[in-house]
Amino acid sequence: MTGKRKRPRTCVACRCESPKKAMLRVVRTPEGEIVLDPTGKRQGRGAYLCTNRECIELAKKRDCLSRALKTRVDPGIYEEIIVLLEKDNDGYHQNIR
Ligand SMILES: [Zn+2]
Repeated sequence: MTGKRKRPRTCVACRCESPKKAMLRVVRTPEGEIVLDPTGKRQGRGAYLCTNRECIELAKKRDCLSRALKTRVDPGIYEEIIVLLEKDNDGYHQNIR
């Protein structure tokens, strides 16, 4: 239950496996909140997306996050991801909170 088992990170949109650093984690917290987790440290059920626009758009179109997280995900989360990615285009992983 602790999720310590190592699993490949698979993008919920394209189903590609990527090194963890190239992915954005989205978490359903124990409170049932859906949050972006650029640090990968939050507790909860996680889903991964490639950090490229195509995958985010694809995920949005298919609502992949809702399926992966087994809950209804607000479509606004995809917009949030896009904003986040564009804002941190250079140095995405260094500048994030
Ligand atoms: Zn992908």
